[in-house]
Amino acid sequence: MTRACALCKKPAIKEGNKFWPLCSERCHLVDLGMWLGEEYRVPGEPDPNLAAASPPTREDDET
Ligand SMILES: [Zn+2]
Repeated sequence: MTRACALCKKPAIKEGNKFWPLCSERCHLVDLGMWLGEEYRVPGEPDPNLAAASPPTREDDET
């Protein structure tokens, strides 16, 4: 059985896929990160740790 991944919408195979309804571990981790982000986010309270953990990286298509 194949279904669109709940995250990236690519075809995800259900059989033997412990990350179902996501297609892969990658999407599973992204999904998990989104959930954790919701958990730890405190509205109205800036998080300096979060800012420090996100160094300015540019990955534009300039190559
Ligand atoms: Zn996916």
